[in-house]
Amino acid sequence: MPLRKAQYQVHWLTGQFCDQRSESMYRRAIQEDVKLQFSLSLSVAACIFGMFAISDYYLLGLTNEFYLLLAMRIVVVSGCLLTVLAVRVWRGYRYKSWLHAMPLWLLATGILLIIPLRPDSLPTQVTAVVVATMAFYLLIPNRLVVVALASLYLTVGFLVFAALFTDVAPMALLRIALLLVMANVVGFFALLRLEGLQRKQYALLYEERARNQQLLEEINHRKTLEKQLRRVAERDALTSLNNRGHFMKLADELLQCSQAKQLPFSLFMIDVDHFKHINDTWGHSSGDWVLAKVAEVCTQSLRPTDVIGRFGGEEFVVALPNTHLNDAQIIAERLKRKVAEQPLKEEMGSLRLSVTIGVAATNTKEDDLESLISRADQVLYVGKRSGRNRVVVCGDDRG
Ligand code: GH3
Ligand code: MG
Ligand code: MG
Repeated sequence: MPLRKAQYQVHWLTGQFCDQRSESMYRRAIQEDVKLQFSLSLSVAACIFGMFAISDYYLLGLTNEFYLLLAMRIVVVSGCLLTVLAVRVWRGYRYKSWLHAMPLWLLATGILLIIPLRPDSLPTQVTAVVVATMAFYLLIPNRLVVVALASLYLTVGFLVFAALFTDVAPMALLRIALLLVMANVVGFFALLRLEGLQRKQYALLYEERARNQQLLEEINHRKTLEKQLRRVAERDALTSLNNRGHFMKLADELLQCSQAKQLPFSLFMIDVDHFKHINDTWGHSSGDWVLAKVAEVCTQSLRPTDVIGRFGGEEFVVALPNTHLNDAQIIAERLKRKVAEQPLKEEMGSLRLSVTIGVAATNTKEDDLESLISRADQVLYVGKRSGRNRVVVCGDDRG
C-alpha cells in the first residue's frame, strides 16, 4: 500500500519520520547498511584513538600519567571493539540506541580524560575534539539525537575540563567554545539534512515499489478475469465440456493435423435416448443432472487427447484423433455400456439410461468436419429408428 503523506513526513529537528511505523520500517530496511557503516567507523575511530598512545609516550615518557593515559586508551579501544564485535556477531541484532550511543560516550570521556593528564597539549586537544565532533555527526549513522547529546557532552565537558585543569586564558576559552559550538552546529545540520534526504529517498522508493506491487496485482487479477472469460466463452456451463463453437475449432484443428499426417480420424455423435421423457417425469433439474452425468462418463472413459463437446440439448460430439473406424466402434460400445451402468438418483429407480451413438471416420483427404458430423448424425438417426441404445457405424467409411 503506498504511504500516505503523513507517513513520510520527516521531523524538522530529529530528521526522522514523524510516523513511528514508517521510522521502524525504514530502520529495518537499512539495518544491514547501518551495521556495516557503524562497525567500520567505530573500528577506525578506536584505532586512531589508540594510536595517540605513541604521542603520549613522546610527550610524557614512561611516567605515571603515561600509564594512566595508556590504561584509559586501552579501556576505550576495548569498549569500542567489543561493541563492534557485539554488533557483528549478535545473531538477533536489532538497532539499539544504547549500543550505538555507548562508544560515543566512551570516546568522549576518553578525550576529556586526556586534558588533566596532558594539560600542556590543549591546542592539539582542541583540534582532536573538533575532528571527533565532526566524526560523531558524519560517521555514526541514523541517530541524530544520540549523536548530538554525546557531542554536547564532549563540548561542555571539554570546556569545563580546560577551565579546571589548564591555565587557558578566558578569551582563549571563549574562542575554543565558539569553535566547538560551530563544529556542533555544522555537524548537526549536515546530519539533519542527510537523515531527512535519505528518508525522503526511501519514501519515494517505497512508493514506487508499492505501485509496482499494485500493478502486478492488477495484472494478475486481469489475467484471472481473462481466464474466466475465456472459460465462459469456450465451455458449456452445465457440463463444463467444450461448447459447440469451441469444439468445432478444436476438432477442425485436429482433423487438419490428422489429414496432414495421414492419420485416421473418427467422430461420435451421441444422443441421450428418450430424454424428453426424463425431463417430463423427474423434472428439468433431474434432466440437467443426467446430462452432467453423461458428460462425466464421456470425460472419464475417453482419452485425454479426444475432444468432447456438447453439441446442443442432449447431444454430445467427440473427435477421436488417430483412431480407425473399427477402434472407434469398440470405444463407442464401451461408452454406451458405461452410461447404462451409471447409478442414477434414487427416485429414478425405473429409468434405464441409454444413449445412441453414430460413428463416422474420415475416408478422403478432402473430408471436412461438417461432412463428418453430418454422416455421424445420419447414422445416429438410423440407430434411433431401429430402436435406440445402440452404436451405428457409417458403413461407407470402413476401409
Ligand atoms: P430421442 O430418444 O429420439 O432422442 O428422444 P428425446 O426425447 O431424447 O429427444 P427430443 O429431441 O424429443 O427431446 C430432447 C429434449 O431435451 C427436449 C428439450 O427440452 C430437452 N433439453 C434440451 N436441452 C436441455 C437442457 O439443457 N436441460 C434439460 N433438462 N433438458 C434439455
Ligand atoms: Mg436429440
Ligand atoms: Mg434424445
